[in-house]
Parts: sequence; structure tokens; C-alpha cells
Amino acid sequence: MCDTHSRTAWIQGWDGIDEPVWHQLRMPYRFVLLGAPGVGKGTQARLLGEALGSCHLSTGDVFRAASEHIAATPAVKLAKAAMKRGDLVPDDLVISTVYERSQCLQCPAGFLLDGFPRTLQQAQWLDERLGQLGVMLDAVVHYELPTEQIVERLCGRRTCEDCHTVYHEMTRPPARADICDDCGGRLVLRADDQPVVVRVRMDAYLKTTEPLKEFYGDQGLLIPVRATGTPEEVLERTLQALGISTSPDDGRMLASSR
Ligand code: AMP
Repeated sequence: MCDTHSRTAWIQGWDGIDEPVWHQLRMPYRFVLLGAPGVGKGTQARLLGEALGSCHLSTGDVFRAASEHIAATPAVKLAKAAMKRGDLVPDDLVISTVYERSQCLQCPAGFLLDGFPRTLQQAQWLDERLGQLGVMLDAVVHYELPTEQIVERLCGRRTCEDCHTVYHEMTRPPARADICDDCGGRLVLRADDQPVVVRVRMDAYLKTTEPLKEFYGDQGLLIPVRATGTPEEVLERTLQALGISTSPDDGRMLASSR
């Protein structure tokens, strides 16, 4: 299973950290999670990661960590400014960031790509890179939700400053107000979840990310999943759509039963 060390390799990059300890799984799953901002990709990536053992790889997490912790290089400043506006970070910067973390794409535990790719150029690059690494995608899950529900979700969303776990005022409140259940960190409204920025992010999604549905549909990889209901209901629907049985007796196994 993917351990926290492997996630550190993704977030911080590979320089200066020891080789992560990989735990070979019998059946690694490799998925891309697509969907508008606020549709619940991050939450599903976390739940799917727990269920399947695959590593949650979010480019948004990498850029947030870089802008919080790394000395502001020109590239980090550029990414930070784009995020603040709700715009996409330029393709060349996103691609070089993922390229530096290519080893995570070869993780024997598999991966759940959350927030990458977001443009056609990124998707084409990913195809080429996975080909070079000899790795195949199993599926691309597209989460679907009406716009009103997306806005509702984003406005109530609170994120842990430290470990980035996502809560929601109505649907997933923390045990203690404004405190993360997992690490005790402070819960905040992400700067890019402010209503005016959400509008820019939605526009960017419709213009540049939605065309990926066709790109992956043409490859026969696209699996649409309705994202209404609780996170657990969406997880159940996702596993069903992917043909992954939740029964421990089944041949295709969940991480918890491996
Ligand atoms: P997320 O947490 O996935 O919603 O990402 C937060 C922000 O990071 C986005 O609004 C973008 O500004 C930036 N970002 C993350 N991933 C990408 C990507 N693949 N391409 C361009 N910008 C990205």
C-alpha cells in the first residue's frame, strides 16, 4: 500500500528524501479523477486511496505546499498568483512539476491523479509519459454534479491548513469547530474557494478541462459517475462503476482485504 512517505515524495519532490518504501500490491489501480472544482474529487481520491491502496496525487496540493513552504522562486510566484486568481497554472510549469515526480506514476501501489491533467496539452503529455514509463491508465472517472450544488459545496468547504483534509459545514463537520479531526490543524476557507474566485475556476474548467471528456471518451477510458449524495454513497457508486467489488470474497480485492 502507498505509505505517507510516498505522498511526501509527491508533495515535496524527490530531492533530499530517502527512497520511499513501496509495498507491492497484487492489483494496483491507476485512475484519473476528472470533474469541476468542488465536485468532490479530493474527497473521493482520499476514500478510494483508503479502499484501494493507490496513492492520492493532487497537483493542487503540490502547488499549495510549494507556495506555503518553499522560498518563492519565480515559478512558485507564478503558480501562486494563478491560483489566487482562480486561473490555471501554465502548462509548462504543471508538466515540469509532474515530470519531476514521474517515479510516483510508477508507484507499485498505483495512483489516483486528482486535478491533473486539466488541459488537452497536459493529457497528451501524460499519455506520452505513461507510455515511456510502461504504465497504463485503468480508467478516467468523471464526476458529474449540477452547478448549483457545486457552488453550495464550495462555499461550505473547510480545509485543514496543515494536512489538507477537507470538511464541510453541513455534510462533514469536524468533531470540534474549525479544528481538524486528523491532525488538530486549523480549518480555513481556501482562498480559491471564495465566491468570486470560484466563478473564474468554473470558467477555466468549462473552457479547458471539459474537452478532456471527449479525449478520454475516444480512448474508451471515461467512466461517468453521479456525484450527488454523501461521500460514502459516491464512493460506492464509483467502485460499482469501475467494476470493483466491495466483497472481501471477490477476486478483485480492496486494500482492506488484501
Ligand atoms: P485543486 O486543488 O485541484 O482545485 O487546484 C487548485 C489550483 O491549483 C487550481 O485552481 C489551479 O490554479 C492550480 N492547479 C492544480 N492543478 C493544476 C493543473 N493540472 N493545471 C493547471 N493548474 C492547476
